[in-house]
Amino acid sequence: AQERYASIRTTPATTKDGHRIKLMMNAGLLADLPSLEGSGAEGVGLFRTELQFLARSQMPRRGDLVAQYQRVLDASHGKQVVFRTLDIGSDKVLPYMKPTDEPNPAMGWRAIRVGLEKPGMMRMQLQAMLRAANGRPLTIMFPFVAQADEFRDARAEVDKTVERERRLGHVLPERIEVGAMLETPSLAFAPQKFFDEVDFLSIGGNDLKQFFFAADRENERVRNRYDTLNVSFLSFIERIVERCQISSTPLSFCGEDAGRPIEAVCFAAMGLRTLSMRPASIGPVKSLLMKVDLDELRAIISGARHRGVQTVRPVVMDYLRSI
Ligand code: PEP
Ligand code: MG
Repeated sequence: AQERYASIRTTPATTKDGHRIKLMMNAGLLADLPSLEGSGAEGVGLFRTELQFLARSQMPRRGDLVAQYQRVLDASHGKQVVFRTLDIGSDKVLPYMKPTDEPNPAMGWRAIRVGLEKPGMMRMQLQAMLRAANGRPLTIMFPFVAQADEFRDARAEVDKTVERERRLGHVLPERIEVGAMLETPSLAFAPQKFFDEVDFLSIGGNDLKQFFFAADRENERVRNRYDTLNVSFLSFIERIVERCQISSTPLSFCGEDAGRPIEAVCFAAMGLRTLSMRPASIGPVKSLLMKVDLDELRAIISGARHRGVQTVRPVVMDYLRSI
């Protein structure tokens, strides 16, 4: 599929009316990194670190993690890599972690909740990331942040780790950016101060959509019932974009929907300027973005919303057929 889009591989994604959209890729294993070159992605917008933890039978040592992250950064050749700390617990049980029995794992003791309450693993990860960067810029993202204080506590862990590394005489990254995933509706309504504090935000649409519609992402029976282009969800996305604009907080979207061309152009119409997706989606998404007039699409979506439709998909499809 990538061959079909080879001619636009190195072309920046710019819409007909001149809006520049940054396209990044999602990854989770070192083996994914060669796609950075092949897909033309501008960086790794989401590196899911738990995949490397799941792929082994015992707890990795810090040295293992340093080596892994170093290889990832080396393979990215200076392009940005957004390392997401462990998004684990409940359903994604590590063989070497004591399982917890929870009635609703997706809403249970997972991700940053584990990281803050049992900080050993998170601290080891942070230290490994700092050492792997070895002077290079470093981007860290915390998953499943539901309230501002969770981000503050996590950032304090980063600061403490940096201080410790400094005392130990290690070379520190030239720049560290610390951000959060917006995957629970609550975070979208955090005080504006929170938006000023984060270095960036990334919408985890898979989880955000599941909690927005109360529809289990793992449950076939309900998950396709709610269209991503439902006006309620698009309004919500637009609201997040606006809040980020007030504080000039960089915002991206890294859930699976970013890799679906029709959804992707609609997110861009809502004001998103960075999308992160599986590498194979970059070509198709870019190709469609280059054909659309974003301001026109935005007006069409807006008109449909005023008419009171449930989803804007039909009008968007009409527009796309017309171009
Ligand atoms: C998401 O929730 O959209 C996301 C990118 O994270 P994950 O799919 O790993 O939960
Ligand atoms: Mg998620």
